[in-house]
Amino acid sequence: MNRSIIKLGCIATMLFLSTAIKAEDKSSFDYHLKAKKVSENVYCFFGTLESISKENGGNMVNSCYVKTKKGFVVIDSGATFSYAKQAYAEMKKIANLPVKYVINTHDHDDHWLGNSFYKSKGAILIASKTCEENMVLGMKTRMEKVLGKVLFGQTKTVKIDKIVDDNLTLNLGEEKFEIAQPISVAHTKGDLIIYLPSKKVLFVGDLLFNGRLTSLRDGSILGSLEALDVIDSYHAKNIIGGHGYETDENATAEFRQYLLEIKKQVLKAQDEDVGMEKITDKVKMPYFKKNKLYDELHNRNVLDAYKELEMMEDDEE
Ligand SMILES: [Zn+2]
Repeated sequence: MNRSIIKLGCIATMLFLSTAIKAEDKSSFDYHLKAKKVSENVYCFFGTLESISKENGGNMVNSCYVKTKKGFVVIDSGATFSYAKQAYAEMKKIANLPVKYVINTHDHDDHWLGNSFYKSKGAILIASKTCEENMVLGMKTRMEKVLGKVLFGQTKTVKIDKIVDDNLTLNLGEEKFEIAQPISVAHTKGDLIIYLPSKKVLFVGDLLFNGRLTSLRDGSILGSLEALDVIDSYHAKNIIGGHGYETDENATAEFRQYLLEIKKQVLKAQDEDVGMEKITDKVKMPYFKKNKLYDELHNRNVLDAYKELEMMEDDEE
């Protein structure tokens, strides 16, 4: 009899423990992060080519880190507190070093909501002025709306420590980071790129997409094209965008082709007096359907380009 009581007690304890573990799992999404080495001491976590969803936990963005002798520099901190925490656990497998700086490439929330984790570990957060202004403390982000309270967890918007006005050079552990805003309006009104001259590695955030389409909603098609020219003028060995897996020196080619094709077709349609209500029927560009998010973003991009290019024509008249 005693034995069966003990047995029952054991079963009850096991049941209690397993539910406790399950309850904890619920609040912290497992991102299964595995970093890929892009260059010597340069690693990235590459996100899926999707929109934000509960299923991917917001992991649809690239977050990279550079190891130096004195610590890590993170470029874009990812989707949530929990994402950044799990990313840092992976970084520590490479070297047990602190994260000294986090550089945010622009103000879209999938790129910087991990800041709250790194700040809690003492990292200095760096962003452009516009980026900082759009990180409104206490405002509900798109990420939080889609993920909901539980998945969003401890994520918070935190204050940026250092603003990049035009450009800034960081030196850490014998590595030099040249940070610059190449164009005033491109993907957003405050895009930063980060160049590592010793390795010829260039991080460009959402000035480059591959495998999925961009969104022109906060930016400019002409600015985006100009930004690509600046990016290519670096002649970097690796160009790492905010979304997509291609990181070689030709990584910008297809994205430029997409933007040039929209520009060309929209200008032609405007010459033929095609109105805005007809433009998305006219500029389909089926070749780009192989890109993820074509159905969600292409028409919108054509409309945004139409408005911008129409204004440009008006200016010239
Ligand atoms: Zn973006």
